[in-house]
Amino acid sequence: MKKIIKNGTIVTAADTYKADILVEDGKIALIGQDLSDSAAEVVDAQGHYVFPGAIDPHTHLEMPFGGTVSKDDFETGTIAAAHGGTTTVIDFCLTDKGKPLQNSIDQWHAKSHDKSVIDYSFHLMIGEINEDVLEQLPSVIEDEGITSFKVFMAYKNVFQADDGTLFRTLEEAKKLGALVMVHAENGDVIDHLVTKALEAGQTDPIYHALTRPPEVEGEATNRAAELTGLADSQLYVVHVTCEEAVTAIANARKKGYKVIGETCPQYLVLDQSYLEKPNFEGAKYVWSPPLREKHHQEVLWNALKTGDLQTLGSDQCSFDFKGQKDLGKGDFTKIPNGGPIIEDRVSILFSEGVKKGRLSLNEFVNITSTKIAKTFGLFPQKGTISVGADADIVIFDPNVERTISVETSHMAADYNPFEGMKVTGQPVSVLSRGDYVIKDKEFVGKIGSGQYLKRSRFGELTTSQEELYQK
Ligand SMILES: [Zn+2]
Repeated sequence: MKKIIKNGTIVTAADTYKADILVEDGKIALIGQDLSDSAAEVVDAQGHYVFPGAIDPHTHLEMPFGGTVSKDDFETGTIAAAHGGTTTVIDFCLTDKGKPLQNSIDQWHAKSHDKSVIDYSFHLMIGEINEDVLEQLPSVIEDEGITSFKVFMAYKNVFQADDGTLFRTLEEAKKLGALVMVHAENGDVIDHLVTKALEAGQTDPIYHALTRPPEVEGEATNRAAELTGLADSQLYVVHVTCEEAVTAIANARKKGYKVIGETCPQYLVLDQSYLEKPNFEGAKYVWSPPLREKHHQEVLWNALKTGDLQTLGSDQCSFDFKGQKDLGKGDFTKIPNGGPIIEDRVSILFSEGVKKGRLSLNEFVNITSTKIAKTFGLFPQKGTISVGADADIVIFDPNVERTISVETSHMAADYNPFEGMKVTGQPVSVLSRGDYVIKDKEFVGKIGSGQYLKRSRFGELTTSQEELYQK
């Protein structure tokens, strides 16, 4: 079925202009003025922006953590993502030391392929490097198209890898054309601070934040960036929260190191005081790294503007307040880490960023879509509106005002961390490969219709990726 999207204002990372889009066989076939085709369904986008589908580079759907499993799976999570204007997610595939990487990848395929309503891809966690692992990595890239490896510098005795593992992963990634991603917090120091806090009887949610101060994030970010420079490799720092980490990334980029930084909406609009909410409600805001004191927010906004931070992920990892978060009553270390964010990521950046004059429309598209596609080897199939690209398109009402609430949310968790927040702007309709997933704010997609995306190697998209490092 052909479609013509008429009368809308197309916004890409580069341009804003009025034109029509002809969609055919799931792709953008033509962009022009006054297009007509008697066989095409007309989609009226009058008064609306037409954005390339947003890409969420950071999700944890149906992920085991701390004896429970994150609430949103690939069905509820991707439906919520689509409502929010996201048409591609890249989820983190966790691995087990000593077990074949392919086992973990197969598990992730099994829980996603008949559920996801939008296209999806995986990053692969690297917990150890040895001959056995090194032997498996080429096929992870070649056969699975997984071209990004995640190393945890925190979560001691769970996910944490040592510096040797990080460095060897950086070396190997350079050889193979992969991008290394780090969760940058000093896990050893956190472990010590946590032990001291518990010994002192400090068990409330706020101590989650106080035992992981900005310094441990800044130190780990700087360490990872320097090791990247030494290996002449490439690094993506997930969920940057604070001035210390932004400074480390900015310094590395000044030296010419290939270092990219991501932040998340929760760090832009919420702060550490949320963890002090009474009746254990602070647990709703427990994730790692933690929310920071308010003055870090403007540093993050500014870094998105200047390009020291490149992208926005959600770090979606939702847990119910009742039955999951409350596992940590009396011991903050047992609160499952994470929150339901996937649906509101794009709206918050639009409302707080574009509407409040912090970002231009084109910067907003670049940060939520284009730069992510370029970074992770999906461009130009994804991440822009151009002839030949997948017809992943968001028709967005920039003027509607609404209040974020769990009542109207499509995520599965029993609370929304942005409850009560007023935002301007909302996706009206969302196309994935030319088919409606969301039509007039209703889900009309098909469960399991999302396709698995094999991604290009880092360096294969030389021109588009190189420009990420230019200031
Ligand atoms: Zn994460």
